[in-house]
Amino acid sequence: MAKIINILIAINDMDAELRLYENPYYQNLGFEMDEKKIQKLKKVREREIKKLPQDIREEYERLSQRYGKGVAPLVEGTCLNCFSVLPTAMISENKKREILKCPNCSIFLYKV
Ligand SMILES: [Zn+2]
Repeated sequence: MAKIINILIAINDMDAELRLYENPYYQNLGFEMDEKKIQKLKKVREREIKKLPQDIREEYERLSQRYGKGVAPLVEGTCLNCFSVLPTAMISENKKREILKCPNCSIFLYKV
């Protein structure tokens, strides 16, 4: 089974693409709506999100509504959603745990 963070990243990417298709500005630029692709994205998203534990699923949806995304990269100890620096201890302690969250903005983080 895929790691939770990898499922979150995939859902986040699908959501970003769906938002793009739903954005009138994007359509005005001349990009065509690909209904087939949108339906497929929605179907796969629904399938994937069911693989997440309920609390993580709800948290993701909440973050996604608030920030327009539910996951962000952690680069050199910095959360790229709110740009706060995470305590080093928190990052090293987390090695064993599956999921890292920003203590400031609560977004799910993945290391790059
Ligand atoms: Zn943050």
